[in-house]
Amino acid sequence: KVQVKDLHKSYGENEVLKGIDLAVKPSEVVCMIGPSGSGKSTFLRCLNRLEVPNSGHIYIDGYDIADPKTDINLVRQNIGMVFQHFNLFPNMSVIDNITLAPVELKKMSKEEAQEAALHYLDIVGLKEKANVNPRTLSGGQKQRVAIARALAMKPDVMLFDEPTSALDPEMVGDVLGVMQDLAKEGMTMIVVTHEMGFAKRVADRVVFFHDGKIREDGTPEQIFEHPQHPDTQNFLNKVL
Ligand code: ATP
Ligand code: MG
Repeated sequence: KVQVKDLHKSYGENEVLKGIDLAVKPSEVVCMIGPSGSGKSTFLRCLNRLEVPNSGHIYIDGYDIADPKTDINLVRQNIGMVFQHFNLFPNMSVIDNITLAPVELKKMSKEEAQEAALHYLDIVGLKEKANVNPRTLSGGQKQRVAIARALAMKPDVMLFDEPTSALDPEMVGDVLGVMQDLAKEGMTMIVVTHEMGFAKRVADRVVFFHDGKIREDGTPEQIFEHPQHPDTQNFLNKVL
C-alpha cells in the first residue's frame, strides 16, 4: 500500500534523509521512533509532498508521490494527516471543520457530509460537541476532532506526527485510545511517536530512525526487547 524506495532529502548542505526504504502493508500499523532531528517528521511530510524529496520514490496506492507529474491534490485526499498541533479552523464550528473538505473536494452533499461527520465524531467520542467552536475544546478534544476531520475523507492511510506530544498528560490517553481503535478497525497507519507504551501495544512494526536512516525495523518485541543495533540500544536506554 505504501512503498518508499531510496528516498533522499536535503536542506541545502544538510542531508536529512539518507536513503529510506520502507514498505507498509494494508492495515499495518508502523510506529516510527528515534532521536530529535533524525528525520522522522521530514519523512512523514515527504509522504504527502509537504516536502519535496531530492530523489527516490514513494508509491501510495500506485501513485508516485515523489513524481512532480502526480496530481498531489488528488492523492492527498486519500492520505489523512494529524500533526502535533491540531490546525482546526477557529472561526467555524466543529462539524463545519469536518464537513469542509468532503463537501469541497469530494463533492459530497452537505447533508451526507454532516451525517458522516457525526458518525466520525461519535467514533472519537465527541458527538455532543458538533456545534461548538473548537476554541472551547481542550487540547485532547481538539486533537480528536482533527482525527475525525481526517477520517471524514475516508483516507486509505493515516499519518500521525506526534499527535499527543503537545497535550496535557491527562489528555494523552483519550487520543491514544482513539488511535488504538482505528488500528483495530484495520486502518493503515504510520505513527511518529514518543509513546513507547503505545508503540509496544499497538504497532505491528516499529521502525527506528537515526541520523536520516532506518537503523532497525522489526516487531515491537524485537525492537524493545532485543534491539540489535547499538544506536537503538542507546536510544531506548535514554527513553525507557
Ligand atoms: P523531532 O523528534 O524533534 O520532531 P525529527 O526526527 O522529526 O525530530 P525533523 O524535523 O525531520 O526531525 O528534522 C530533521 C533535520 O532536518 C533537522 O536537522 C532539522 O533541523 C532539519 N530541518 C527540518 N525541517 C527543515 C526546514 N524546513 N529547513 C531546513 N532544515 C530543516
Ligand atoms: Mg518531528
